[in-house]
Parts: sequence; structure tokens; C-alpha cells
Amino acid sequence: MGEAMNDQEYSIRLIERQMVAEGTMAFSFEKPAGFVFAPGQFVDLTLTEPSETDAAGNTRAFSIASAPQEPTLMVATRLRDTAFKRELQRMPIGSSVRMEGPFGKLVLHTDQARPAVFLAGGIGITPFRSMVVGAALQRSPHPMVLFYSNRRPEDAPFLDELQALQENNPHYRFVGTMTEPAKSSRSWTGETGYLNAALLSKYLAGIEKPIYYVVGPPGMVVALRTMLKDAGIDDHDIRTEKFAGY
Ligand SMILES: Cc1cc2nc3c(=O)[nH]c(=O)nc-3n(C[C@H](O)[C@H](O)[C@H](O)COP(=O)(O)OP(=O)(O)OC[C@H]3O[C@@H](n4cnc5c(N)ncnc54)[C@H](O)[C@@H]3O)c2cc1C
Repeated sequence: MGEAMNDQEYSIRLIERQMVAEGTMAFSFEKPAGFVFAPGQFVDLTLTEPSETDAAGNTRAFSIASAPQEPTLMVATRLRDTAFKRELQRMPIGSSVRMEGPFGKLVLHTDQARPAVFLAGGIGITPFRSMVVGAALQRSPHPMVLFYSNRRPEDAPFLDELQALQENNPHYRFVGTMTEPAKSSRSWTGETGYLNAALLSKYLAGIEKPIYYVVGPPGMVVALRTMLKDAGIDDHDIRTEKFAGY
């Protein structure tokens, strides 16, 4: 959860719920006037009047999935069967939750001479959506490559949007990979298998001195950091965020 120091507290109203992949929902909230964040940061959301609570309590951290230029604040999550998530799904549109933040240091480096390479596992895509949508809206020249791993296309939030964004931004490349494409009812012509050194080098030829960003469930983040270090990447050039709770 966020540090108590320089954060601010807001009450924000739910505007819309939308399925963005199988078992995965996005929630859009009214953006409070004056709320400023950098793509990659997260907020703590607290249910103020839940009809049920479990041992994990009424607060969860969520990366902001929307870009600063977009009109609303969006978060997205896997709908597991916990009291917090049941409540998020059934609370009436127009209800308020408490938001604290923004928190977090996983923000894009400013040196545009150094490309950004994003490695996302599943719901770990949320901070990267904010970064790449923001870069496209800003017409940023910053080179970016997004690697995005899921079991099947139907499990991959924002898949079509992130793929199509390549048409708006010549400095951005998207590489999706599916680890269980045979179980899909959608056709998939992209990469298959886990994110690994061979897949990275296939797409990163000619990309000089990138900074790597890795976000996803803790096990995936640990495995990918080891993979990058074994491939000779300097620790300083690897930035990670673990979605504790998965
Ligand atoms: C900086 C940061 C950013 C984050 N950003 C996001 C984000 O953008 N989107 C997002 O979805 N999450 C994000 N998370 C994780 C999020 O805060 C929650 O922890 C997560 O969504 C799990 O919440 P829950 O209510 O499903 O489980 P919790 O009630 O929090 O339960 C947590 C524990 O119970 C176990 N558990 C609960 N349900 C199940 C189940 N069905 N199967 C197996 N194990 C289970 C979990 O393994 C975990 O150990 C972020 C976390 C951090 C720290």
C-alpha cells in the first residue's frame, strides 16, 4: 500500500464498468479536479460502505490504466471471488470510493535516447497501457516495445487496442505472446510460449541500451528479472513492480 507521506485523499464516483477480457473488468471513475499522476503510478482504493468485508480488508492497490490525457481514471482487475471484488462489481454506478495517491516510482525514464522495453504478464499490463496510450496521445518520439504475455487472447486485457496503437505511433511496437493458444476459441497468429531471451532478442535487434520494465504477478516478475540478468542486463536498467495479492 502507499506511503502515508505526500499522498492526497479523494472521494471518486464510479462512472462505468466494462469487461476487458474474460473474468477481467475495468472500472472508470470521475477524475478529481487537480489530480495529477504520471503513467505507471498506482492508487489505493478503499470501499467506504461495503456490504461485506473479508480478512484482506477494504483497500487494494491498483495501477492507473488510463493515460493522464484521458478524461476518466480507469483501473482494471481480475475478478476473483473476494469480498472486495464482489462489492466492486455490484456497487451501483454513481457510488463513491476513497482514493489515495498517486504512489509509486515505476514511471517512464525521461531520456528519450534510451528505448523502453515493457514486459507485462496478464493484468500487469495496466501501468503500461497508461504509458503507451499516453505516449501516442502526446505524439512522443520515445521508442517503446511492449511484450505482453497471456494464456490466451481472450485473457488479455486491452489486446486489440494495444495492437492497433502501432498504427498511431511509429515509435511503438507491440509483441503479444500466448502460452496456451490451443485452448483459445480465437485465432492467434502472433508469438506463442513464455517471454524468454530468444523472443526478446528476436524483436530487440538494433534497439540500443533499453531500460526494461517488468510488471505482473510476483512469480513472473522474479523469473523475468533473473532472465534479464542472465542475459547480461545491468540491474540499474531493470525496473519492476510486483502485483502483490496474485
Ligand atoms: C503497486 C501495486 C499495483 C497493483 N495494481 C494492480 C492492478 O492494476 N490490477 C490488479 O488487479 N491488481 C493490482 N494489484 C494487486 C491488487 O492490489 C490486489 O492485491 C489483487 O487484485 C488481489 O486482490 P483480491 O481481492 O483478488 O485478493 P485478496 O483478497 O487481496 O487476496 C490476496 C491473497 O489471497 C489469495 N487469493 C485470493 N483469491 C484467490 C483466488 N481466487 N485464487 C487463488 N488465490 C487467491 C491471493 O493469492 C493472495 O495471497 C497491485 C498491487 C500492487 C502492490
